[in-house]
Amino acid sequence: MIAFDNVHKSFGRHEVLRGIDAEIAKGQVVCLIGPSGSGKSTLLRCVNGLEDYQRGRISIDGVVVDAASPDLHSICTRVSMVFQKFNLFPHRTALENVMEGPVYVLKEDRQEVRERAMALLNRVGLAEKTNSYPSSLSGGQQQRVAIARALAMRPQAILFDEPTSALDPEMVGEVLQVMRVLADEDMTMLVVTHEIQFAREVSDRVLFLDGGRIVEQGPAGEILRDPKHDRTRDFLRRVT
Ligand code: ATP
Ligand code: MG
Repeated sequence: MIAFDNVHKSFGRHEVLRGIDAEIAKGQVVCLIGPSGSGKSTLLRCVNGLEDYQRGRISIDGVVVDAASPDLHSICTRVSMVFQKFNLFPHRTALENVMEGPVYVLKEDRQEVRERAMALLNRVGLAEKTNSYPSSLSGGQQQRVAIARALAMRPQAILFDEPTSALDPEMVGEVLQVMRVLADEDMTMLVVTHEIQFAREVSDRVLFLDGGRIVEQGPAGEILRDPKHDRTRDFLRRVT
């Protein structure tokens, strides 16, 4: 579904991704962990075209994500992204935020999108909040709107970049719960997270990124219980 093949990415002379090889099969949940600055966000941003990369290949269902491709836009709408800071439009209601992409990007019928958006807000537990503006929602509620918005694009996969790390602790659970349900429904997910418990319970695989390389990867239970590398062990000691 999402394949990384020897991906290299630099900002100027600073090589941030140094040969990433990984594959996320359809329906899999893969957690990406690693220290600050290791390249986690950059890797995600390369998948949906927010950043370009210099060498190697990223493909989604066999279609190469290539900045030069005229199809980049349509490739990238296949993969939604959920950010740490929600990134909702402040002057639009929850419902309007969810409708925005399908109506303006995918040019779908407004009435159909509206119904779908209502159903999605209901699904993330926010049926009562359709007309609320982001500023009147809690962080956990805003993030659930952002997840509904991601789903409204009917993506083949969703990328999450530390979706709970900007939240007050009491709101982390409600967001993780929504993500758990998505995982149970076989949504393909690549999740940058420090929620080790979530990684252990929900993910099929964990990738440990350090200095732009995947130092270790494998089933969550294995990596988290018995990391092979010192770097992984150090990191896990700090976050757990
Ligand atoms: P964190 O856990 O703090 O979010 P991260 O693993 O997501 O870290 P990235 O944000 O991918 O790390 O950054 C990786 C490296 O790339 C860092 O050294 C960062 O300073 C650098 N970097 C990221 N974005 C840019 C940019 N737009 N221009 C220049 N350098 C950048
Ligand atoms: Mg990051």
